[in-house]
Amino acid sequence: MHCSEFRTALSARVDGEDLPPGMTGAALDAHLRGCGECCAWGERARRLRLLAARFDVA
Ligand SMILES: [Zn+2]
Repeated sequence: MHCSEFRTALSARVDGEDLPPGMTGAALDAHLRGCGECCAWGERARRLRLLAARFDVA
């Protein structure tokens, strides 16, 4: 699986949506442990989400 697929799943998780078909939380976590870029991407997505919630623009 490619990073882009994990990022799609990650953004779904950040938004509180269901993971895409074929993706499991365990697989996502395993990838994040081994991929610093996706890990950083996920952190950024989470921060943006929090920021959006704070300003109520989501
Ligand atoms: Zn990755």
